[in-house]
Amino acid sequence: MKALVVDDSSATRFILGKMLKEIGYEVLEAENGEVALSTLRDNTDVIFAMVDWNMPVMNGYELVQEVRKDGQFADLVLMMVTTETEMTQVVQAIEAGANEYLMKPFTKEMVADKMALLGLTSSEEGSPS
Ligand SMILES: [Mg+2]
Repeated sequence: MKALVVDDSSATRFILGKMLKEIGYEVLEAENGEVALSTLRDNTDVIFAMVDWNMPVMNGYELVQEVRKDGQFADLVLMMVTTETEMTQVVQAIEAGANEYLMKPFTKEMVADKMALLGLTSSEEGSPS
């Protein structure tokens, strides 16, 4: 099981990556949307991506739009991660094709709950089936 963490903050990538590794994922990282797109094209077995909203070069919103334009990523589950609490941003992300969203600051439990919602893990067992 491969996941991609997209965030311009290396600290956030580390924290999210650690959480995903703990539940059994192999984790790839990208620091902006452009790097994420090429990483996804090189790793078509990635099943899940956590995408920061605010990033230089190509932001998360643009990345979600690009991914949803490309049929080869039709099954890729996208979770938007945002610091903004405005519902408009969340609605915009979902409309662009994100499957879920996560508000910063988040806890390990919040991440596990959202992933369980998406069928990406059993929050009880803590490992993907
Ligand atoms: Mg950011």
